[in-house]
Amino acid sequence: MPSFNEEELFKAIILDHYKDPRHHQLVDDSGYKRINMDSTTCIDNIDIQLLMDGDIIKDIRFDGESCAISTASTSIMTELLIGKTREEANEIIKNFNNMIFEKDYDPEILEEAIAFKNTHKQASRIKCATIGWNGIDKLLNEK
Ligand code: ZN
Repeated sequence: MPSFNEEELFKAIILDHYKDPRHHQLVDDSGYKRINMDSTTCIDNIDIQLLMDGDIIKDIRFDGESCAISTASTSIMTELLIGKTREEANEIIKNFNNMIFEKDYDPEILEEAIAFKNTHKQASRIKCATIGWNGIDKLLNEK
């Protein structure tokens, strides 16, 4: 038997990315597309940058004011999406949103993002968990 349960594992993943967020620094490079995402229900106000190389996501950056949930969720997202094609990224984003909104999803392709599996139980946290993902969705698909 493992010494931790699933909920503790999810908390540990979120804490790790909150304390040490990946790709958490903007760059001064006009090759990046940039978007600001803010929340009316939380402190979250983040800038996200996306660098494409043809159809491949070469880099994602983010910075700003963000709570533990949005910081960790966006950090995990950067790790999942960098190196993927636009189509692969869209598939991951779709599965993440399906998980958040309790629809069918593939846990395999979500890797550490699975830590947000139970977010639907705290409706106030849904916006925090999805803010970075919504931002990259907009940048990626020019919405
Ligand atoms: Zn938040």
